[in-house]
Amino acid sequence: MLDYVNLEADLTEEERMVRDTARDFVEDRVKPDVGEHWIEGTFPKELITEMGELGFYAPNLDGYGLPNLSERAYGILMQELEAGDSGLRSMASVQGALVMYPIHSFGSEEQKEEYLWDLGSGEKVGCFGLTEPEHGSNPSAMETHAEADGDGYVLNGAKTWITNSPISDVALVWAKDRSDDDTVRGFLVDTDKAGVTTNKIDEKLSLRASITGEIHLNDVRVEESDVLPGVEGMKGPLSCLTQARFGIAWGAVGAARDCFETARQYATDREQFGGPIARFQLQQDKLAEMATQITLAQLLIYRLTDLKERGELRPEHVSMAKRNNVRMARDQSRIAREMIGGNGITADYSPMRHMTNLETVYTYEGTHDIHTLILGHDLTGFQAFQ
Ligand code: FAD
Repeated sequence: MLDYVNLEADLTEEERMVRDTARDFVEDRVKPDVGEHWIEGTFPKELITEMGELGFYAPNLDGYGLPNLSERAYGILMQELEAGDSGLRSMASVQGALVMYPIHSFGSEEQKEEYLWDLGSGEKVGCFGLTEPEHGSNPSAMETHAEADGDGYVLNGAKTWITNSPISDVALVWAKDRSDDDTVRGFLVDTDKAGVTTNKIDEKLSLRASITGEIHLNDVRVEESDVLPGVEGMKGPLSCLTQARFGIAWGAVGAARDCFETARQYATDREQFGGPIARFQLQQDKLAEMATQITLAQLLIYRLTDLKERGELRPEHVSMAKRNNVRMARDQSRIAREMIGGNGITADYSPMRHMTNLETVYTYEGTHDIHTLILGHDLTGFQAFQ
């Protein structure tokens, strides 16, 4: 596997173990039929509890049966999962960084006990409801709202493009509290409550091996104890997104690496004009560029991981890495596809599947444009969002 500057040398025993466990899991349990799932538009649901048993959900958190691994172990895990498929990494990212992380950081003790054990084991599935039909890049304009009602609230609104909503047991819904000056709060909504519907979005041409849906909330009654007590305002959802984007910046490198390895192998095996195509300078140029871009992306995310461990990582750092690494993976997956010729457009080879998946990864968790604006603001002091 491509590790051109020997980053492996710095890994601890535990981090190597996580990498090997995840790599074996992807080889044995994911790669054999992920192409089929992608074509069918299904997620391999049997893997949800298997990933829980292996400790793949929020392994960087502690307590409640969680492994409390290093941030680097967490990143390596995301990298290996996305080498399988971005849909698989999305499952682990949403469950771990977008549902378990906020409960762990901002939840009451009762909420932690009620949800973290079951989410960690995969017995329960969670989803994160921020995006709305009319509000994507600007979620602060959300219309979903809560009205105080006795010792609880009544929720109304609609969320869309929500990973796993149709198979979720609990949705973390971000809504404006009308009884408190429209302050944004997080509500833990069990999806079997009256007034909640979660229909699936079909006919996606990207991230097909991942279930995506809507959440409709029609006079849904929740209790005060269902509100995350430890956070209010957009800081709540945005801090979760920083966690998830960190994992995406790692994951994208995994998708690119899988494209590189597939193209390198193909170039070595495929013969044209009397020998392997890997002997042509044009093909070598593509591999050299791919290996270089992957290595640069690895170096960026390794450095940011050190900053995260030291508590010095800023959200803008994460924007730079999400923006760069996903663009890199998107570009390089296309080159890899090209190197496989006609066979490259089938599901027998991973690059085109990765390439179409990466269209989603480029768009969700802040589009490439939005991360450009975040960096522009940080670098100049002027915000160019509106
Ligand atoms: P828009 O915001 O309408 O943007 C359209 C275009 O305009 C983009 O190119 C954007 O970059 C550009 N643009 C917008 N504003 C500006 C500006 N100020 N300056 C310049 N250009 C701008 N959301 C969740 O809450 N939870 C999930 O689990 C989740 N999962 C997803 C899974 C999938 C498969 C997909 C596709 C999306 C998912 N999303 C999820 C939603 C995702 O986060 C949004 O699609 C994303 O934030 C972009 O919003 P939008 O699609 O409404 O695009």
